[in-house]
Amino acid sequence: MNRKDLHQSARGTLYVVPTPIGNLEDITLRALRVLKEVHFIAAEDTRHTKKLLNHFDIHPTEFFSYREQNSREAGAKVRALLEQGRSGAVVSDAGMPAISDPGRQVIADLVELGFPFVVLPGPSALLTALVGSGLATEAFSFHGFLDRQTKGRRTTLELLKMRRETLVFFESPHRIEKSLEDMHAVFGDRQVVVARELTKVHEHYVRGRLSEWSALLPPEAMRGEMVVLIEGMTAAPEYPETADAGLLEGESVAQHVRRLMDEGLDKKEAMRAVAKARSITRRAVYQSLLLQE
Ligand code: SAM
Repeated sequence: MNRKDLHQSARGTLYVVPTPIGNLEDITLRALRVLKEVHFIAAEDTRHTKKLLNHFDIHPTEFFSYREQNSREAGAKVRALLEQGRSGAVVSDAGMPAISDPGRQVIADLVELGFPFVVLPGPSALLTALVGSGLATEAFSFHGFLDRQTKGRRTTLELLKMRRETLVFFESPHRIEKSLEDMHAVFGDRQVVVARELTKVHEHYVRGRLSEWSALLPPEAMRGEMVVLIEGMTAAPEYPETADAGLLEGESVAQHVRRLMDEGLDKKEAMRAVAKARSITRRAVYQSLLLQE
């Protein structure tokens, strides 16, 4: 071992430890062992985590807060303790730290400094909701909480409108109504799943279409914690049910587009439907139209 390795091995390790999102039985055996063995625990809200630690009879030597608001000072404290050879854990109130929760900055700092850290797998509302939604899991993107302001929210949704993967959002009961309204306005009538109170007694998946959201989610259902999942663009109906995008014998690309427009689609929708029906690119449809116009 050279001097550098000797120095590095003298440092403590930081463990990123996910905690239950409702059901205490979801804590892993490894998480419990790590929380018992480490010297310090940095928690988003010490009062909240104290209840979890008491439940499992865990009493760290040092226990302090690590939140977005104090991440600079708390991060410096974490690094100083690691430098002294103390190992520790960072936890958030529930689920995986750094996923819409504090923790990201301390990890980025450790990566930059080359300090050792270990991320434990475990509970997170994101993956639990995605799998339970029944929507496509091959590709998905996560967007955390949408902006509180309508303008910011709509801008984000507009940017996501053409994405083909399943879209996942965290949401609060205070803003779910406005978010679903905006999603309907921007995305049209896609499939939506609202995953509520996961792992808790009242766990419930609400499934339907964005046009039905007010019936699916009456005011009394807009409580508790929730994840909203929307199907990606390709899976959504791209043209009204009445329009038959199927191919007619001898029909040119331009005639095909015109027929769908006569059936009520706008030009963009018709071009998209023709491209799909003929398994050609939208650019090819566009070029055919240019040639035949
Ligand atoms: N880092 C956490 C995780 O990995 O699950 C998420 C923290 S974020 C501050 C809290 C949000 O996660 C909630 O507003 C809700 O959208 C979602 N969430 C957390 N627990 C949940 C649960 N039991 N059921 C449904 N959604 C949950």
